[in-house]
Order: sequence, then C-alpha cells, then structure tokens
Amino acid sequence: MGVKWYDFGAEQAELGSELSEAIARVLKNSQFIRGPEVRAFESEWAAYCGARHCVGLGNGLDSLHLSLRAAGIGVGDEVIVPAHTFVATWLAVTYAGATPVPVDVGIETFTMDPEKFRRAITPRTKAVIPVDLYGNPANVEEITEEAHRHDFIVVEDAAQAHGARVGARTVGSIADITAFSFYPIKNLGAYGDAGAITTNRSDLAERVSLLGNYGSEVKYDHRILGYNSRLDELQAAVLRVKLRQLDRWNGRRRERASRYLDGLAHLGLTLPSLTPPGHVWHVFPILHRRRDALQAYLESAGVPSIIHYPVPPHLLGAYAPLGFGPGAFPISERIAHEELSLPLSPFLSLEDQDEVLRSVAKWCSEA
Ligand SMILES: *Cc1c(COP(=O)(O)O)cnc(C)c1O
Repeated sequence: MGVKWYDFGAEQAELGSELSEAIARVLKNSQFIRGPEVRAFESEWAAYCGARHCVGLGNGLDSLHLSLRAAGIGVGDEVIVPAHTFVATWLAVTYAGATPVPVDVGIETFTMDPEKFRRAITPRTKAVIPVDLYGNPANVEEITEEAHRHDFIVVEDAAQAHGARVGARTVGSIADITAFSFYPIKNLGAYGDAGAITTNRSDLAERVSLLGNYGSEVKYDHRILGYNSRLDELQAAVLRVKLRQLDRWNGRRRERASRYLDGLAHLGLTLPSLTPPGHVWHVFPILHRRRDALQAYLESAGVPSIIHYPVPPHLLGAYAPLGFGPGAFPISERIAHEELSLPLSPFLSLEDQDEVLRSVAKWCSEA
C-alpha cells in the first residue's frame, strides 16, 4: 500500500456529514459567487487571525499580487523577497510590474535573514515579503519595525502558516497585510483553488476587494482596472468546516514533528533546529548531502517525499533575465540541493510515521 503524502479520504471521513451538509447548502442556495458563505468565512477567518479585515480571493498568488497592487506598488519599485521560497512569492512582484530583490535565508529558520534584509534596502524599496516557509513564522515583527522606519510596507506570505503564532499573536494580524493560499494540501485547504488576505488597514482591504472584483463595488461601475479573483461559495463553505478543526489538526502536526525530531536525531541528518512553539509544520524538512539517493531509496520503500524546492527562483529559467548565477545566494542554494520533506499531515497514522522513521534510519545506517 505504502504511506500516503496526504490522506484526503481520512480527512473527509473525519469531517463526516458536516462537509456534505455544507456543500449541499451551497447547491440549494445556488449563489456561487459573492454570497453568504464567503461573507461568513471572511469574518470567521479575520476573527481567527485577530485581524480587522479579510478578503477572499481566487488563490494565494493573486492574494500576494493584489496586496502589492493595493499598496500602489508598480514599475520601478523594488520588493525584497527571500531567495528560498515557492516561485509564487516572486511572481507576485513581477506581475505588479516591480522588481524582486532577493536576500538569502537563515539556515536554521529557512526564512528571510533580517540582517541581509536590512542591507538590501534602497531608496526604491517599496515593500518586503517575508515568507513563513514550512510553517515556521518568519521574523515579521523585527522586519516590520525596520520596514516602517523606512516607510514601506510588509506583505507576509503565510501560504504555509495558517494558525502559526508569534508569542500571543496569530499570523495574519502581524504584518500590514498577510496573504494566504488555501490550496488543498495547505494547513487550511479548500477543495480547489482559493486564497485570502487579512489586514487591519481598511484602505488596503477595500482596495484588494475592488481589485479582485473587476475594479467595481457596484455592478458595471468599474472605478479602477481590476481582475477576476474571487473566493467562491463552495470553497468558502468547505473552508468554514475545516477551519473548526485547524487548531486540533495543527496540534497533530506538532506531535508528529516532535516524533520526527526524536526519532531522527543522531542519524547524521540536519534537522530543523529552531522550532518555536508557534510553528505549524506545513512540512517536515530535513537536509542531507546525498538527498537524491535518500529520496530514491524512500521511493523504493513506498515512502513519498517531496523536495521544497529543487531550484531557487533566481536560478529558474523564468528569472534568467535578472542575471543571477549560481553562488549568488549560497544558503538558499544549499537548501535546494539538500532539502527533503518527509510526510507530515494530521492524517499520517503513527504506524505509517514509524514506517517512515524505519526507512530513513535504515538508509542512514547503510549510507
Ligand atoms: C502555495 C504557496 C503560494 C501560492 O498559492 P496558490 O494558491 O497556489 O496560488 C505562495 N507562496 C507559498 C510560500 C506557497 O507555499
């Protein structure tokens, strides 16, 4: 049979009739866009995050892009981004017409190095996008303080960090504006594409809402050039059901992460070393010089694993025009060569996790 990366069957079994009832409610109502489920989810998600506003959008990339647009970022502006992230973080900057300015990440946090961020600031810097990679909240408070000193905004990419906390604050209430993806396998996932922003600033919330709905609040009155990026009712209904489980499911992720940390110690792997209590373990990343051999062995043993991400954005063909070569961001490049994510979800059974642990240990003892 093998271990599953994410067991949607188990997830749906756990949600039971609540899920089918929510979907049936939307079908019965037959208002599929801009209806009561989206409005309810927006207020529930804002409340959960401790933010004043939430705007549902079509996906995570749009949530980042429209956040930048709402803040007036465009051609000629620089936006600081981590060199190690999913390409969407960079694409959002490019779509806004601005230039991504990468900085390296910390090897212990996998997130933007605040000191390198400071050194990358120029008079053209108009925003910074810290990314809470793998579920580990970036150093957003420190980055925000510095950004505000220079009078530019912080757009947090929290696509992997639903429910993560920094002290008493929940991700989504810390940066000027926070972008979420609800891609199905995220910590809070829809059953299709979906995204949202949260913010305490009503001007940004209104602007994002306008941008995502063809630039109009009132039908056919297009005040600005907008886009079509809307959270739909079916996805909102699913998200409302799953949101009620988020803290419990994140708790299970933490339990499994600590079992990995114990079970994989002393095997010669580099394990996540900074694991703050607010971490929500979107994936469990390990580093090894012979990562590809480990992955091939695990595959043969029926254990799935994923590399997040094999090529850093600055070395992708899409970003060749920026002119970066190998060696520009050594820590990000090292992670790209050595990282492997092991299966970790609320539905990974402890038996299956033991199977993963045994397989990794066996390879390490023979390597
Ligand atoms: C998933 C993800 C995105 C993009 O989300 P989509 O909903 O797929 O557009 C952006 N940034 C990060 C870090 C992600 O993991």
